[in-house]
Amino acid sequence: MLLTALLILAGFGLAFGLWFWWACATPSSTFFRPVLVRGPQGGKRVSLTFDDGPSEQFTAQILDILREHHVPATFFVCGKNVERYPDLLRRIVAEGHEVGNHTYSHPFLFFKSRKRMAAEIDRTQTVIEQVAGFRPTLFRPPYGARWFGLVPTLLERGMHLIQWSATGYDWKKDAAGITRAALCDLKPGAVILLHDGRETRRASEIDRSPTVQALADLIHGTRRQGYTFAPLKDFLPTN
Ligand SMILES: [Zn+2]
Repeated sequence: MLLTALLILAGFGLAFGLWFWWACATPSSTFFRPVLVRGPQGGKRVSLTFDDGPSEQFTAQILDILREHHVPATFFVCGKNVERYPDLLRRIVAEGHEVGNHTYSHPFLFFKSRKRMAAEIDRTQTVIEQVAGFRPTLFRPPYGARWFGLVPTLLERGMHLIQWSATGYDWKKDAAGITRAALCDLKPGAVILLHDGRETRRASEIDRSPTVQALADLIHGTRRQGYTFAPLKDFLPTN
């Protein structure tokens, strides 16, 4: 009897743990709302996003490729990296791309207080404003990980929580693998995650050349499937 009760309890515990992990850590989870995981599914539009930059070498190369192919993108930047490379942020903006906030120091937000999350967000907003003259309204949490209090903190600031629905897994795959994985995940309204930096690491610790190598093929492959690239602002709910 006691054993049965313990097993039932363990079962509930496991189910709760799995649900909790899904809610906080799965990029596509909609437990914390409002959130944008995927854009409108009516047209064949997708949106390209780059996290963790700017980085000295790779952001410029990615911007060159985007310009050559006339593709708009969104760069979710870390405040600390913007302080290092303000000119790259200015170039992102000058070339018509969108900028989002990706925290100052790229922490896991699990178990972080509202005060700490707000400090990470606000410090980055200030850095971006000093460099580029505006405060972004888009936010993506590091690792896609959300925590209680994040959404109210964003809503207070008029900011949107942005996740993603497709990725090239460019933190672990080579160029061909990145292209294949991203194209495989494409659906109308897909928000595609790639990286132009690596957290807030220094230039010598970053190699985003697989992403750079994959990008043109990924763009061609996406267009061959009949999709067009839209800016993320076109995917936000209008009200
Ligand atoms: Zn990141």
